[in-house]
Amino acid sequence: MSGVKVLTGGCHCGLVRFECTTDLAMVTACNCSICTKKGLHFTFLPPKSFQLRAGAESLKEYLFNKRAISHQLCGECGVEVFARGTKPDGSEVVALNVSCIDGIELSQLTMTPIDGRHR
Ligand SMILES: [Zn+2]
Repeated sequence: MSGVKVLTGGCHCGLVRFECTTDLAMVTACNCSICTKKGLHFTFLPPKSFQLRAGAESLKEYLFNKRAISHQLCGECGVEVFARGTKPDGSEVVALNVSCIDGIELSQLTMTPIDGRHR
């Protein structure tokens, strides 16, 4: 995949739906506890490139560690769709679970290793 595209996606049961604009140039393969246990691969977007289209009322928040990252799970099917956080410079960022993009093929993505376990 290359080039900036408008992509749609959502959780497993379909309550939570989103639209985003991304080139998927940077997708994480992170070894931190939550990415490992959930099999998460994130791509990072400015909030303006991510629109929640459905399911805002179904989202459940999960916080851990420094509670700095607000993980957003579908309350029905439990899939983590995205997370909201703040970059070191203070700007807001959306971490999108690329596995939630419609029709995504993880094997066709270039993953960037992140040593999140030791941060
Ligand atoms: Zn769901």
